[in-house]
Amino acid sequence: MKSKRLLGLLLLPAAASLCLAGCGGSSETAAREYSKGIFAMGTYMELTAYGEQAESVLDEAENRIREWEALWSTTDEDSEIYAANHSQGRTVPLSSETEELLQFALKMARQTGGALDPTIYPLVNAWGFISQEYRVPSQREIGELLALTGYEKVKVENHGVTLPEGMQLDLGAVGKGYAGELLADYFKEEGISSALLNIGGNIQMVGSRPDGTKWRIGIRNPFGEGSFGVLESEDTAVVTSGGYERYFTDEDGTVYWHILDPDTGRPAQSGLASATIIADSGRMADALSTSIFVMGLEEGSEYWKNHGEFDMLLVTQDGEIYLTEGIEDSFTLEDAFSDREMHVIRK
Ligand code: AMP
Ligand code: MG
Repeated sequence: MKSKRLLGLLLLPAAASLCLAGCGGSSETAAREYSKGIFAMGTYMELTAYGEQAESVLDEAENRIREWEALWSTTDEDSEIYAANHSQGRTVPLSSETEELLQFALKMARQTGGALDPTIYPLVNAWGFISQEYRVPSQREIGELLALTGYEKVKVENHGVTLPEGMQLDLGAVGKGYAGELLADYFKEEGISSALLNIGGNIQMVGSRPDGTKWRIGIRNPFGEGSFGVLESEDTAVVTSGGYERYFTDEDGTVYWHILDPDTGRPAQSGLASATIIADSGRMADALSTSIFVMGLEEGSEYWKNHGEFDMLLVTQDGEIYLTEGIEDSFTLEDAFSDREMHVIRK
């Protein structure tokens, strides 16, 4: 089987503490720019912050990212999630960060009717998305593993988690967004009013650009390289889930991607090529990008009408673009896509 993982971000230079735009500028108020590239949580991250204290804040950000990775990794034998996944029914103590993240994932699982399910790990593993030894499990195997999923069977109490034997957790759909949100809070506490955190394609903004204008975020074209449009925003999170991020192709040319439908145990076939969520909360944006990708256009639009508090930009497998009314005026198509019709979803 041919395997492929598109990590365009890997091509970016891993710059540490670089002083780029604004450095030594003529204006006394020009903020110093610092950037740091980090490989963690299975992805490349690039953190950029402005201001005198930015360098030390970025160093501490890296420390925190490594601590969270050590807590949430499914493969590191010392992680809390690994301990829970090999607990054979025993209760495993959780740090406050892991407890909060797991509680949030379970709440979103309930709220999305199980489109998000943090107990999907046995299936993610069976399809080879952890080892990258990709395979198509038999229907029988999928059925057996589905019996080992179900977020409603997870118990979190007294700062510990109890999983029925054989069940396993995967916080991959929410961890990076949560990390971005925690870092944004920390940056603000430290007095940083301008930063852009690119956590493997999950974008978390802190404030606006140093000159006070909005950030311009390219939204990845799910069918090829580059972006198909630009979103202007400030102090929000912009998170995309798409089939193109991690997938493999079988001998017949069928593509299987890493976002699974918890109802079928198979790659979600909702008709979407990508789902981008724009929200104040990074964890919410990350949870919803995965959930809406599983739900598809109609169910996703219904969810948006009922829950609000976020905007979304959906690209269907047919290349049609849908966006919610809140970002109608802040999203612009790139020239190469300017002939595309954009459908606005209204309440
Ligand atoms: P994201 O890139 O945020 O959409 O997260 C995708 C990752 O979450 C996958 O690589 C899996 O580890 C895991 N995952 C896949 N499908 C689901 C699902 N329906 N609910 C929760 N996690 C999932
Ligand atoms: Mg997600």
